[in-house]
Amino acid sequence: MNSAKKYEFRNLRNSPDKIMICPKCLEMLFRDDIEHFSSCPYCNAHIEISQEVEDFLLKPFIDNWVANQSRSNFDIMPPEN
Ligand SMILES: [Zn+2]
Repeated sequence: MNSAKKYEFRNLRNSPDKIMICPKCLEMLFRDDIEHFSSCPYCNAHIEISQEVEDFLLKPFIDNWVANQSRSNFDIMPPEN
């Protein structure tokens, strides 16, 4: 059986990014919160770095990597915001 905790993720309004919901206090956790503390800054609940949490944490790096890979193939677009 898979014993890893399931965390809930929500899409951010006006952004392609996501936030994670603390399973204990239900506060919204941003990537930086989890990266720096490995626990919820509000209730101090330990955040288990499961595969889905890791994907969440690594997403900006992967997006950046993908963007770099395709840079030579596309014209650079102006920033969206
Ligand atoms: Zn919490």
